[in-house]
Amino acid sequence: MSFSDGFLDSIKPEFSAALPRLASGKYVHFVMLRHSQCFPILQPNRVLTTLCTQAGIQTSDMINRLVMLKHQQTPSARLVGRELLFSLGLASDNPQDKDKFCNGENCCKKCPDCIIYGFASNEGGLELAKVYSDSAFSLGDAKSNDVIAEITFPTVETLCDPTFESFLYVLGNLLHTSPQIGMSNHVIGIVLCDGEIFSNLHFTQALYDVLKSNLNSSLTDLITKATEVSNNLLNQEPVTKTRIITGSQLTDLLTEVSILYQDETKLKTVMTTLCQQTKIYAQIYGDSWSSRGKEIIPSLPFRKRNFISLDSSNYQLVNL
Ligand SMILES: [Zn+2]
Repeated sequence: MSFSDGFLDSIKPEFSAALPRLASGKYVHFVMLRHSQCFPILQPNRVLTTLCTQAGIQTSDMINRLVMLKHQQTPSARLVGRELLFSLGLASDNPQDKDKFCNGENCCKKCPDCIIYGFASNEGGLELAKVYSDSAFSLGDAKSNDVIAEITFPTVETLCDPTFESFLYVLGNLLHTSPQIGMSNHVIGIVLCDGEIFSNLHFTQALYDVLKSNLNSSLTDLITKATEVSNNLLNQEPVTKTRIITGSQLTDLLTEVSILYQDETKLKTVMTTLCQQTKIYAQIYGDSWSSRGKEIIPSLPFRKRNFISLDSSNYQLVNL
């Protein structure tokens, strides 16, 4: 379908038309600031996870950072996506709708939510997902009351093997994450490339170096600085960047995505295509998930990102 010669149309050829079985080596990285003005999401059991890390790349002081663990980052976006699929009639939480039924306890293993965000596999509890992110770290020191009141987590979320439709789905979910959960996502750059980019901690430390005397800057200033820092870091990454979308191009793209999400007819066309893609993917490769789990492990669409192990002896885990 056409998006009236806009920016989205211009990038559509960069995406594949189907979800590949084997990892394609294609990635979309969403570079963003997750910003919280309260943080119920960060307090499972009223315990905050903090980690003692070097403040910046150049700044060698050690500070305690709040940690937003991987599993705390995607549920809100998933919820938004599932609600969208329900509202468009493409998924259902009614067991009578056999073809569309999917809920948290009974994963259908074929809808966009299951395929893109993953589901627990029968074999060894593997989680198959095309979206992933690393643990995120607060920009400032967790012991500062200012930081506790407003927390910024510089973050990269990655979609691997993207189709145009899965890209729109994941981006829409990031943009529409409800402020009710106390967390907003500010996308500052979108990178289409053939490899991994910087880690969340590296991004956070680089931004800290630039902002260390102004950590309480306005969100607008934080976004401006984070965009500069992100662009500098991207220039240093040894991967082929097909597209780096920032600034006015990003504004155009986000505006077009917003318009798309307000046009139910067009949106339903896009999401119907996405549902077909995930269903075909499940039909062709789905048997592997239950009966041939071990065989497909080498071809899982995972990247071995340099995740930071929270029990690493390099770090000190502290509960505030
Ligand atoms: Zn499902």
